[in-house]
Amino acid sequence: MRAMILTAPGTPLQEVDRPIPTPQSGQLLIRVHACGICRTDLHVVDGELTQPKLPLIPGHQIVGTVVEHGPDVSGAFPPGTRVGVPWLGHTCGHCRYCRSGRENLCDLAQFTGYQLDGGYAEYTVADERFCFPIPLGYPDLQAAPLLCAGLIGYRSLMMTGDAQRLGLYGFGASAHLVIQTALHQGRQVFAFTRAGDTEGQQFARDLGAVWAGSSDELPPEPLDAAIIFAPVGALVPAALKAVAKGGTVVCAGIHMSEIPSFAYELLWGERVLRSVANLTRHDGEEFLALAPQVPIQTHVETFPLAAANEALDALRNGKIQGAAVLVVDPRT
Ligand SMILES: [Zn+2]
Ligand SMILES: [Zn+2]
Repeated sequence: MRAMILTAPGTPLQEVDRPIPTPQSGQLLIRVHACGICRTDLHVVDGELTQPKLPLIPGHQIVGTVVEHGPDVSGAFPPGTRVGVPWLGHTCGHCRYCRSGRENLCDLAQFTGYQLDGGYAEYTVADERFCFPIPLGYPDLQAAPLLCAGLIGYRSLMMTGDAQRLGLYGFGASAHLVIQTALHQGRQVFAFTRAGDTEGQQFARDLGAVWAGSSDELPPEPLDAAIIFAPVGALVPAALKAVAKGGTVVCAGIHMSEIPSFAYELLWGERVLRSVANLTRHDGEEFLALAPQVPIQTHVETFPLAAANEALDALRNGKIQGAAVLVVDPRT
C-alpha cells in the first residue's frame, strides 16, 4: 500500500510502499477512503507532541470500508461496512478514569496517528471497539472532519453549559462545525480570527456568526463562554477579558504556546478556565447522532494523499477554509 510516513519530527512526511497490515485480535482491516487533517497532526509532525511512535503514519479522522476481520471480532462491523476511526484508539478499561466514564483521560490510552498508525495510507487497522458507524447521507469527505474537528468541538461546546453568547477563537475546522451546532441550539456566536483575516471573518458571518472580528478586539457585548481553538496562549487572557462574570473559557487544543501571566482580576468573578482532552466513545455516539439532525455541513478543501505535506503547510499557514481532507481513494 501507499503511505505517508513520519520518520523524524520536524521533517517532511515521506511517501513509501508498505505491506498491507494484518488485523490482530479485535482489529478491523480498513480500506481508507479519506482522512481529515487535524491541527494535532501538525503538532505531531512538528515535534510539539513528543511521544509519537516512529516511523508513524499520521491521521486520525479516517473514513473507510471494513475489508477483513482479525480474530475475536464481534461482527458489529461486517466487511463492506463504512466506519470512522477517531483519535482515541485504545484505553486500558480498568483504571479510575476508565471506570468513571472518563476514558479520555486514561493514562494508558493510545491515540490513532500518534501511538498507533493512522489514515495517511491506503489501509489501516483499528480496534473495532473504538470505531464508529458513519451516519448515512454523509459523503466520505464530509464525514472525515466530524471525527475530530467535529467531536472535539462538540465536547468543548458541552463544557460551556448553556452559555448563550459564545465566542470562538480561531475559526478553522472545528469552529466551522461548532457554530452550526451552537446555532441549532439557539446560541449566538461571536467569531475571532487572526488580525486581518477578513476572509475568515466573512466565512464566519456566512455561517451565521452575529459578529466576527480580530482576536485582539473585544466583542460588542460580554460573552457567557469562549472556546479557544487556535494554539496561541495569549488568547487565554484575551478570552477571559471577553467573558462576563461566571463565564467559562475552554481550551480545545492539545498543545498551546505558553500562556502569558495575567492579573487575577481576569479570573475573578467565578470565571472558569479549563481544557478539553481527547474524546470518549460516548461523545462520539452522541455527536454522530446529532450531526445529521442539525444538519452539520462540512466545508472541505481536498488534497491527494501524496500532497499531505502541502496540506499540512496550508493548515500551518492558515490557508484552509473549513477542514482539509486527504482523498486517499480517488473514487471517493
Ligand atoms: Zn484506563
Ligand atoms: Zn484531531
